Amino acid sequence: LVKTYGQQGLFGSGRVVRAAQEVDLTVRRGETLGIVGESGSGKSTVARCVMRLIDPTSGAILIDGENIASLREGQLRPHRRDIQIVFQDPYRSLNPRRTVGQSIIEGPVNFGLAVPEAKARAAELMKVVGLSSDALERFPHQFSGGQRQRICIARALAMEPAILIADEAVSALDVSVQAQVLDLLDDVRERFDLAMLFITHDLRVAAQICDRIMVMNKGEVVETGHTAQVYADPQHAYTRALLAAAP
Ligand code: ATP
Ligand code: MG
Repeated sequence: LVKTYGQQGLFGSGRVVRAAQEVDLTVRRGETLGIVGESGSGKSTVARCVMRLIDPTSGAILIDGENIASLREGQLRPHRRDIQIVFQDPYRSLNPRRTVGQSIIEGPVNFGLAVPEAKARAAELMKVVGLSSDALERFPHQFSGGQRQRICIARALAMEPAILIADEAVSALDVSVQAQVLDLLDDVRERFDLAMLFITHDLRVAAQICDRIMVMNKGEVVETGHTAQVYADPQHAYTRALLAAAP
């Protein structure tokens, strides 16, 4: 996968950013792959390409063997359901004027699920993410940051995805809440047999949840390996520097 920004911008003269250079990764159902790197290394660019929020410059994105890299919007519809994301900021990723229930059922109803079934699914998911069912009647401002991330996870799961992308999903939370939300992500990965892409700048967090880790620096993959192996025996100087800097 290659993504270059600023190539054919409106004014043509913009800075060219090689945000993702020949990124090659595989993630299977039931597995968590960590994408780790410092700010600006291209982690979210990879996520945005996989989500098809942006067009990759070149390369392929294979979902069960089907290349979605060059599909147009109309053809992408099934993948809009299959691939879900949880973002970093729990205070901005939910609509403040809609109840939690409304936010959770919106996607499934758009995809043709009847409202009563969507509501039943939402109630079931409240149990899965550890919130009480009356949470569905309440508004986002009535929840803490950690609870909002649980709601965002429930909203993603309501679409019955195959792939869940967590882009710095615990980075805004304090350490004890981080651990709880990590446990939840690990639990739902197993329960729903998800392929999880777990994006973080924090190697310590990645170690808690990832089976394998891909380290990125300035748009390039510097190494990929099993988490324990990358920790015990980092192959690349950049990874060693990241590990040394980790608290
Ligand atoms: P962070 O940890 O801060 O979220 P990241 O690893 O997710 O960083 P990206 O958001 O993928 O990094 O950005 C990679 C590079 O691409 C950065 O240099 C960024 O400035 C640049 N970039 C991202 N989006 C655009 C855009 N729409 N236009 C131009 N450059 C962009
Ligand atoms: Mg990012």
